[in-house]
Amino acid sequence: MKKLKFKNGDTLDAIGLGTWKSKKGKVTEAVKIALENGYKHIDCAAVYGNEKEVGNGMAEIFKNGKVKREDVWVTSKLWNDAHKKEDVIPALKNTLNDLQLDYLDLYLIHWPVAFDPEVEGFPETADDYLSLEEAPLIETWNEMIKAKEQGLVKHIGVSNFSIQKLKDLMAETDHIPEMNQVELHPYLQQNKLLEFCSKNGINVTAYSPLGSGDRPDEMKAKDEPSLLENPTIVKIAKKHGASPGQILIKWSEQRGTAVIPKSTNENRIKENLMSAGYQLDEEDMKEIADLDYHFRYVTGKFFELEGNSYENIYDD
Ligand code: NDP
Repeated sequence: MKKLKFKNGDTLDAIGLGTWKSKKGKVTEAVKIALENGYKHIDCAAVYGNEKEVGNGMAEIFKNGKVKREDVWVTSKLWNDAHKKEDVIPALKNTLNDLQLDYLDLYLIHWPVAFDPEVEGFPETADDYLSLEEAPLIETWNEMIKAKEQGLVKHIGVSNFSIQKLKDLMAETDHIPEMNQVELHPYLQQNKLLEFCSKNGINVTAYSPLGSGDRPDEMKAKDEPSLLENPTIVKIAKKHGASPGQILIKWSEQRGTAVIPKSTNENRIKENLMSAGYQLDEEDMKEIADLDYHFRYVTGKFFELEGNSYENIYDD
């Protein structure tokens, strides 16, 4: 399997386990199966509401000595309600406590969007957000740097940042984000963003690589197949004796990004890691390149309310 490299020499196994929407009753077992079967990379987030259960799975495996903590890369993310500078490190400490870890390998700002921490739950009106003036991203980022200096995290990065958002942040800091985790699959190939990140030494992680296992209404309306049922993907899968999921994962890995398919099903967890064993040829890559139609499954557009200063989530 490919490995991503970081400036300090650390490496990250490209294929990891996603945990969004993994049910509390299932995710402990999923994490154990993953670690027992060779996964060395787990993707978490405070907002997924299951970090305690993810932590229980890791703790069991580390305790029985099957896998060592230092051999696993654990990523988590700062939720939008903790962007104020005094809230960043306490939020990170909650995550560490839930995951039963002393440090994270990577901590990401989940979205370039800040909620008013006083507001319970998901914001409904523009007033429920903090403006970029009230919670400047650079202030949040400077706390991430402090967390790294304190040894609470080894690497820091961002998620759902467009080229413009990266440029804005980079103009204010010498500490370039080490990772940008974004939606990335054949229907949303993000070529410009990949090029920008590559030029600036920013690694990229592909989320929702299987299209979140979904076929949203807009897709049905356009008569577009889900990613897993796309005839080109299905054809390439048959050609290689692989599953469509494996082709989608391999495609991301082969392009040099990390990729974090979510599954709580034992066979699919194993199948997804085995994707690394295939090789897509030039013709396959060309056919998949033609599938891009800029479709987002996870759209930050729902943060864009008139007057909340988040009108341009995808400003490139
Ligand atoms: P994925 O694209 O990973 O798809 C997951 C779905 O596909 C589930 O329904 C799963 O079901 C199914 N599945 C898994 N493996 C296979 C397979 N081999 N064949 C067919 N179906 C399969 O969706 P996610 O949106 O969860 O994205 C992956 C991860 O990325 C998340 O879990 C999260 O960690 C991260 N993420 C980050 C975001 C961010 O804002 N930074 C946003 C969204 C995701 P089953 O479990 O039953 O196998």
